[in-house]
Amino acid sequence: MQSDATTTESFVGRPKTLAELRAAIASGQTKSADLAAEYYQRIEQKNPRLNVYLSLTKERALEQAARVDAAAAKGDPLGPLAGIPVGIKDVLVMKGAPATAGSKILKGYQPPYDATAVSRLEAAGAVLLGKLNCDEFAMGSSNENSAYGPVRNPVAPDRVPGGSSGGSAAAVAANMAVATLGTDTGGSIRQPASFCGVVGVLPTYGRVSRYGLIAFASSLDRIGPFAANVRDAATLLGAIAGHDPSDATSSPAPVPDYAAESDKPAEGLRIGVPAEYFGEGLDPEVRAAIESGIDSLRAAGCTIQPISLPTTKYAIPTYYLVATAEASANLARFDGVRYGYRSPSSATLSDMYRHSRDEGFGAEVKRRILLGTYALSAGYYDAYYLKAQQVRRLLAEEFLRAFAQVDAIVTPTSPIPPFKLGEKTGDPLAMYLADIYTVTASLAGISGVSVPCGATKAGLPVGMQVLASHLQEGTAFRVARAVEAAQGRG
Ligand code: GLN
Repeated sequence: MQSDATTTESFVGRPKTLAELRAAIASGQTKSADLAAEYYQRIEQKNPRLNVYLSLTKERALEQAARVDAAAAKGDPLGPLAGIPVGIKDVLVMKGAPATAGSKILKGYQPPYDATAVSRLEAAGAVLLGKLNCDEFAMGSSNENSAYGPVRNPVAPDRVPGGSSGGSAAAVAANMAVATLGTDTGGSIRQPASFCGVVGVLPTYGRVSRYGLIAFASSLDRIGPFAANVRDAATLLGAIAGHDPSDATSSPAPVPDYAAESDKPAEGLRIGVPAEYFGEGLDPEVRAAIESGIDSLRAAGCTIQPISLPTTKYAIPTYYLVATAEASANLARFDGVRYGYRSPSSATLSDMYRHSRDEGFGAEVKRRILLGTYALSAGYYDAYYLKAQQVRRLLAEEFLRAFAQVDAIVTPTSPIPPFKLGEKTGDPLAMYLADIYTVTASLAGISGVSVPCGATKAGLPVGMQVLASHLQEGTAFRVARAVEAAQGRG
């Protein structure tokens, strides 16, 4: 298999961890500016084939690197991400850099401010390399809905990297960034992490401010990190988490030292294995990899308990009602007047709205706006949207009952390994159904991690999803670290 994975090039053995890179920068042994240049070189070399970055923010990155190097030379205190090259999913805004959200309708839009997660990364010392490809408005599971072309999976370039944060996952897998930010509304961090063999974190809803995130479905949208290992991802989460007066839904709960939390052994933790996540439709090779991951947790001293989450069977229709309804409202603002693309060929104002939206949005986005508008329309609201909200509540309560008995729940992240480019584009329903294991935690608001857990015989990555209750990310990290350790990673 042709491969772009980090282990095959430019590094002997595994790439350096974030902590090792930071230490080298702090001691002056590595210059942040040189590290950034090395990453830009690798991006230049790999991007034409993988299509991971949509735009680069070189000037800002090099200014920040110079600031970090100057601080290191003076012996000034350095942030936890000092000098670390990081990439940002293109649904998060950065002042003065293009923000397309993977859509033609936002072509040319340059936001005037930074998302909170972005400014917090920079305040922690990170060097922001550029903006990463994704499905249009984060709608998709394969990155094939980007108006700027698909991303290729660095591990298997004829396959998709997953989505919608395909660029964020692929950038880490191909070592085109040490870590990245993505967003997850129904699985868009966890599933691409699983497909590309990297770690992805779904923080609790409200843990990370959404200020400056181009909204898809506001009650579900979350921002979270990708990294090559659990500890690095935990370090990133620590830098971006916490209350923000600009996001009324952000949690005031104090932010733990997530990296230190992840260092605690998993021994003694009670792990639930829900039968509903191991049924029909689960690829046998994925099942085998996850079962052996569960064995390694048992060996690490965890108690494994079978549990049941019967509402899981309603999760897909519930998610696709709530998400599309909110999307239809959020995307009303793209009208050709205020942002990005405006159709040149309109005689009247309403024609201009219509043509701009018709020409600016891709097929999947239009499908969702139609579905969501329908679900919210008079006469259907009670039957669809209201019902979906009620099922959502049942699902959340079911998880809370489970977390009274277990500390974490483990499942496959995706029922299938990464598929071939083009394989599912003609069948949106099949694409939706494959989100079955990730949309549940999205609806319930709980936290989770996808951690690499073996591979198929053909060498395709498999990810294990580790779910934890609200604000219990530290527990998910501990379990994920144990899985990682059993694979000789991390
Ligand atoms: N694949 C899901 C969807 O298409 C999830 C997307 C996401 O999490 N942003 O809606």
